[in-house]
Amino acid sequence: MKKYKVGILGATGTVGQRFVQLLEGHPQFEISALAASDRSAGKPYVEACAWKLSGEIPAAVRDIEVQPIEPPLDCDIVFSSLPSSIARETEEAFARAGFPVISNSSSYRMDDDVPLLIPEINHEHVGLIKTQQQRRGYGKGFIVTNPNCAVASFAPPLAALHRKFGLKSAVITTMQAISGAGYPGVSSMDISDNVLPYIAGEEPKVETEAQKILGEFADGVVTNADFSVSAQCFRVDVIDGHTASVRVNLKENATLEDVVEAMRSFPVLDLHSSPEHFIEVCDEPSRPQPRLDRDNGHGMTITVGRIFPDNVFDYRFVSLSHNTVRGAAGSAILNAELLIDKGII
Ligand code: NAP
Repeated sequence: MKKYKVGILGATGTVGQRFVQLLEGHPQFEISALAASDRSAGKPYVEACAWKLSGEIPAAVRDIEVQPIEPPLDCDIVFSSLPSSIARETEEAFARAGFPVISNSSSYRMDDDVPLLIPEINHEHVGLIKTQQQRRGYGKGFIVTNPNCAVASFAPPLAALHRKFGLKSAVITTMQAISGAGYPGVSSMDISDNVLPYIAGEEPKVETEAQKILGEFADGVVTNADFSVSAQCFRVDVIDGHTASVRVNLKENATLEDVVEAMRSFPVLDLHSSPEHFIEVCDEPSRPQPRLDRDNGHGMTITVGRIFPDNVFDYRFVSLSHNTVRGAAGSAILNAELLIDKGII
């Protein structure tokens, strides 16, 4: 199998470290470039990075010198995990220089010529890449994105319901892990023994991204799905794993068995990072829980539980995923595998 050289922007951060961990031993990718801020550039990765994941920094990257976030880098594919404040300009520079850019940042997610991908749900949205390259004059470079980490935790069950019964509306309350704020993130004095009812900029993302992900691609454009979302987002005292409490109204009637079956039978893909179960429905009344369920499917499975008819809405359920794996680096790697599979990279 051909090995592609990959570069990581923001390689020293929370998501960057997860990229480094997940790419170790990957059959299609090898890390050839790591880039971060001026604070890190010029140092070996092992010195620049305050490694916060279990296990050692992989031996193959310890001595790679961290570079500034400027093109060109010695790689075939760029994974970006930069803060959104600098991602827009930097990712554009790499795309213009001819690199496929696979981004975690929010900067381009809602641009109408940029795919916002969850491959199991909307792999056909890669058709937007042609439109993007023509419109922006990128040559062979382009940008694709993956969703906000909280959206990744509930868009899959919404997609399962939308496909079978149509969605009218959803009310979503997220309980988001500390690692979602990056490192050092929120102070321990703020989060310990506490729940924070505000995450800057989060609610608008949670209220809009799923409609694009579940949108239909035809004639070079994505038409967003026509359901509404009301969201409240909370930071909770959990290290990894975003949980969402979801209530939905459906367009068509569905029994509880229909709802469960729609989620359980959602098709999976045959890519290296695809989990065996995209959506796992658990029957135990006290699940899903972040500590017990975030690593299901190596962090790539969405775990759903507590599915019941609701007194005000049609159904309610709880949905969970790993925010730095399915919600970030794992999804970006899956996107790269998809683009190779489709012959776009
Ligand atoms: P983080 O832990 O704060 O890491 C930020 C990274 O960007 C570090 O490598 C940092 O390098 C680099 N950086 C910061 N400012 C820079 C600058 N001015 N120039 C060049 N590099 C700079 O953040 P994170 O949690 O990994 O998040 C990264 C991106 O992914 C954000 O857009 C975030 O919204 C998104 N995201 C995060 C998650 C999550 O669960 N954490 C999930 C989905 C999406 P230094 O170490 O050199 O400062």
